[in-house]
Parts: sequence; C-alpha cells; structure tokens
Amino acid sequence: MSARETLQDAPRHAGAAADAAGDGRGAPAALRRVPRFPHAWCLWVPLSQLAVLAVWLAWGWRAGLPALLASHALCVVPVFLPRARLYAPVLSRLPARGRQVWLTIDDGPSDDTGPILDLLDRHGAKATFFLVGERAAARPALVAEIVRRGHGVGNHSQTHPQAWFWALGPRRMRAEVAQAQAVLGALAGRPPHWFRSVVGMTNPFVAAPLRAAGLTRVAWSARGFDAVREDPGAMVAAIERDLAPGAIVLLHEGARHGRSVEMIAALLARLDALGYTAVLPETLDVERTVPAAP
Ligand SMILES: [Zn+2]
Repeated sequence: MSARETLQDAPRHAGAAADAAGDGRGAPAALRRVPRFPHAWCLWVPLSQLAVLAVWLAWGWRAGLPALLASHALCVVPVFLPRARLYAPVLSRLPARGRQVWLTIDDGPSDDTGPILDLLDRHGAKATFFLVGERAAARPALVAEIVRRGHGVGNHSQTHPQAWFWALGPRRMRAEVAQAQAVLGALAGRPPHWFRSVVGMTNPFVAAPLRAAGLTRVAWSARGFDAVREDPGAMVAAIERDLAPGAIVLLHEGARHGRSVEMIAALLARLDALGYTAVLPETLDVERTVPAAP
C-alpha cells in the first residue's frame, strides 16, 4: 500500500482559503478546534469559588478547605496536561480508518530540517513542521523548502519560551502566537491553522489569541521523548506502543543530543515495516468518517 494510494484530496470548505496549510489545502472542518468561548474561565472560576464558599459556610472548614484545595488543583493541573481541554479545545488524534498517522515535528527550522526533508521524501511520508517564528525568520529558505515539498507548517510560538510558557500573561501570550502567525504566514505563503503549545502547556490566556488567528491547538497521542532520549530504538519502541490508526506522533528536530535525524530515520523505517503511512490531516477524507464539528 503506497502513500499515494491512501491519500485522498480533501474537500474545500468556505473560508478555508484564509487558513489553508502550506500545502494549499484547508483544514477539514471536522478537525477544527478553534476556541469558541476563550473567556469562559472568567465565569466558571468565580462560580467555583462561590461554590467553595457555600460549602465552607454550610459544613465548616472540614469540608470547605478540601473543596478549596480541590478547586485550585482543578484549575492548575490542566495547564500541565497537553490533552486537557479546560482552557482551550484540542485535537489529540485523527479519525483515520486505515494505518495512517500524522507526524508532527516541533522546534525547527534547524540544521536537521534539510536531512529530515530528504528522509521524508525517501519514505513517501508527509509531516507538519511546528516552527518557531524567530527561528523561521532566520532561515526562510528552509520554510520555503518545507512548503515546496508538500509538507505542512504549524505555529509553535515566536520565541519558544520553554520555562515560562505556562505562566505567560495575556499580552505576552498574544504576542507569541500572533507574531509567529505573521512570520510563518509570510514565509510559507499562507498562515498556519495548527498550533502546538510550547512543552504542551496551555494556560487561560492561550485560547483568545488562538481564536483571533483561527488556530486549532494540536496535542499528540504517541511520543517517544525523542528530545531527551538518546537511544533511537527505545524511542521508536515507546512510540510503537501508542501507534494506532489516526495517531498524532510528537517528534522534534535540533535536539541537544544531535540525533534527531537518526531518530526520525528509525521511526520511518519502523512505520514502513508496520504498514503505516504518514499523511497530513488536510489530505484525510474525514468528512465522510465523522460528523462535522458544530
Ligand atoms: Zn517545542
């Protein structure tokens, strides 16, 4: 089964042109998760604290204190859970029927981008590169090459503030998303429609800039910790445990250990052996497999 046989042209949708991917196709409506109520938390956070107060007044501190701590944990923990939907909706897997996966490669462009593009070509595989705006601006030719070879470009923030992304306030968060969107849109020829949070974290201020830019947040369903692990075999084995039709695979380029290309080569070889093809969501015929999102 070749990649070409499993690919199907995605239907065009009204309004899709404005947020089409670098490959010229729009995001299938069924996969779009653009936040609709980015400020909903402004309502439920005070309401939850009123509920805690009511519990405290009714049953005293023995019930009120645990309720207070639980309500705070429920607000904080989802920030660090990439698939949590509390602060922004998220796409965590594709509704694929066959052995198709979506490779998502974060943190570029880098010295690895060219060799990775060659590898993908050799395997007939497609991937979405979640690029960092300032890195893309420094290496515009690599962005153009990603697009020329038919891959996708996603937004992975302007400066990749790894340590503090979870704690960014509304102004800085808006700048991180909007600046990268402008830079990548100009370099790729079209603004991205996918967004990957830095280190997968999503606080209350992520949803508003995503809505403004028409971006859908993308998490993952399979990862091998390739940015920190140095053994390609162990990394591939970890990903293989979570492989399934429609899996979204998290990968990185330019990792400090210098083995990102080797890691992706090992994964592509294993995907071939298992009969999986790496496709872009824009080419999945998802409209016929799941109902359109409301
Ligand atoms: Zn990253």
